[in-house]
Amino acid sequence: MRFDILTIFSEILSGFFSAGILAQAQAKGLIDVRLHDLREFSCDPHRMVDDRPYGGGPGMVMQAEPFIRGIETITREVNGHTHVILLSSQGRLFRQADAVRWAGVDGLLLLCGRYEGVDERVTSFVDEEISIGNYVLTGGETAAAVVIEAVARMIPGVVGKLASVEKDSFFNKDHLGPPQYTRPPVIRGLSVPEVLLSGDHAKIEAFRSRKAWEKTARNRPDLLGLDVDRGNSSG
Ligand code: SAM
Repeated sequence: MRFDILTIFSEILSGFFSAGILAQAQAKGLIDVRLHDLREFSCDPHRMVDDRPYGGGPGMVMQAEPFIRGIETITREVNGHTHVILLSSQGRLFRQADAVRWAGVDGLLLLCGRYEGVDERVTSFVDEEISIGNYVLTGGETAAAVVIEAVARMIPGVVGKLASVEKDSFFNKDHLGPPQYTRPPVIRGLSVPEVLLSGDHAKIEAFRSRKAWEKTARNRPDLLGLDVDRGNSSG
């Protein structure tokens, strides 16, 4: 699967893609990540990509033209086989179900904003406007990294063991995965639950399901349709 990213700060992302599972996925040819400098698509002799906001106000707004030209060029390069996503604090919230869905497309083209955001007219040239959470980042690069990592994990072969993906939080239903433990059996007076050392797989599964439910109820009651505390709902 191909990932194209339009940004003015490629260097933020190049290190991110050069380590760990995403680097291995590229080496195996499972994913192909292309970073594009948005300034290459500027019409300005000084390669400017931002301007003052119409109507006044602080800061600068990213111009529509470089993004539109970038989308057109890259889309042409891949014969239209890409899904265009604008990373935006004002977008629909990104979910695990999106990661699963997008892992099945040929490519994603991710647009990273900066400053006060991107000229609204760019939304007419994208398939989806996506936010990774109810908070404001300085730029779309970290959001693009989040989306790509979540999507890439869903591509067969990227994560070594399918079972580890299937047991993750949010994979099947909207609930969290079970708590995990590793050696030593006791640390600072805290013991691993006995059942996990028993070798009884049926009991271990039952324990994990119950603990996963308890943890979801405690940390994410909204997922279970229970009373939602303010930290999870409006934050
Ligand atoms: N003025 C905007 C607002 O009030 O919503 C915030 C712009 S933000 C400082 C600059 C850029 O960071 C955005 O254009 C977007 O690309 C990215 N960004 C910020 N928060 C984001 C989020 N929660 N999800 C995805 N992208 C985000």
